[in-house]
Amino acid sequence: MLSETEARQLILERSPRGPEVRVPLPESLGRRTTRPLLATCDLPGFDNSSMDGYAVRAAEAVRGARLRLAGVQPAGPDQGLCLAPGEAIRIFTGAPLPAGADAVVMQEDTRAEDTHVTLLEDSAVGEFVRRRGADLCVGQILFSPGDRIRAAGLGLLASQGMDTVPVVETPRVAIVTTGDELQPAGTGIPLGPGQIHDSNGPLLAAVARHFGAVSTCHHAPDEPARLRAILEQAMDEADFVWIAGGVSVGDRDFVRPCLEELGCVSEFWRVRIKPGKPFLFARREDGPLIFGLPGNPVSAFVTALLFAVPSLEHWNLGDPSPDSPPLVRFRSRLLTTLTNPGDRPHYLRAWHDSAEGTLRPAGLQESHALAGLSRANALIRLEAGATGEAGSEITAFALDF
Ligand code: AMP
Ligand code: MG
Repeated sequence: MLSETEARQLILERSPRGPEVRVPLPESLGRRTTRPLLATCDLPGFDNSSMDGYAVRAAEAVRGARLRLAGVQPAGPDQGLCLAPGEAIRIFTGAPLPAGADAVVMQEDTRAEDTHVTLLEDSAVGEFVRRRGADLCVGQILFSPGDRIRAAGLGLLASQGMDTVPVVETPRVAIVTTGDELQPAGTGIPLGPGQIHDSNGPLLAAVARHFGAVSTCHHAPDEPARLRAILEQAMDEADFVWIAGGVSVGDRDFVRPCLEELGCVSEFWRVRIKPGKPFLFARREDGPLIFGLPGNPVSAFVTALLFAVPSLEHWNLGDPSPDSPPLVRFRSRLLTTLTNPGDRPHYLRAWHDSAEGTLRPAGLQESHALAGLSRANALIRLEAGATGEAGSEITAFALDF
């Protein structure tokens, strides 16, 4: 049986990079750039005033100086004014600095008359002047391939006059839930005896969405012909297929034989972790990658994060490490002693109190315990046979979405 790292390594080796698409600037938020984006405009683009006040020659701008007003330069078109000795030019924030000026005296430090202005403070060269290129110069790297565009970065691209951005195509995930016991959520139809609502479909769609994918959801009963037809459809429409349930050893777990009949290659089945041991990874030549997630909600969630999400990250030109889940890691103090008497590493669900800097197990630690999972905001990985002592500092992974 593969270890978690070996499994993720193999998945990453098989994972494709997403193609490039150009999107309008406002739609680029949260997406990843496909190529280096370089500055084409200096920021600031020209020397300009950072205050409402008067453009002056610093050398003569001493306290008590009385300067003749030689014009007005608002923010906007450069009036082409030129400052001669003994003069000041009325200027406003963001306005281009007139030729001959090398400082700005802020309005609050002056006393103005109709034709003259008297300075109430000394000035210095460069004071209240924003220099061209001080923030950014043409040719500097704004984004490297795989960088995520955040709000400020989007604004930066706008400052460069960009109207479209080359980003990675949004990955498409087809989610296939399986099981005769399932009733789609949200239909209002009462559950019959032995039935449960489908929670994996919405849960996995939320995970896919958080990690930048769009998803469709299908349901297949535990019936090979229907399952095959639905899997075929899912493979046709998506870059990744996430199947929930039907991958274990039960007589009615038909996913593996159905995939085989559809010409898919099983790369591996089962991983040395808890929860999620029956996880399956398969693919079809020139087709999508197929992730068979165990049906128990905690197992489906954890294996989606450990194995399916790294593949999405790889698609988005990220470089996820095979050694660790693609989740934010942090250190915190364990409040209770935890032991893992089993022979597989165990991902325990935990609550991290960030104000206290503490971590404690949250909810029922079983693979069907969805309510327990919903009370957790962190995962703790406890190695096989390991004990985490109360009071010790341990590493945990954030479930902050
Ligand atoms: P399976 O992996 O198909 O053997 O399913 C394992 C457990 O997960 C069973 O108790 C199923 O009822 C449950 N399960 C499977 N699929 C879902 C789903 N979509 N939503 C909620 N529970 C599920
Ligand atoms: Mg099932």
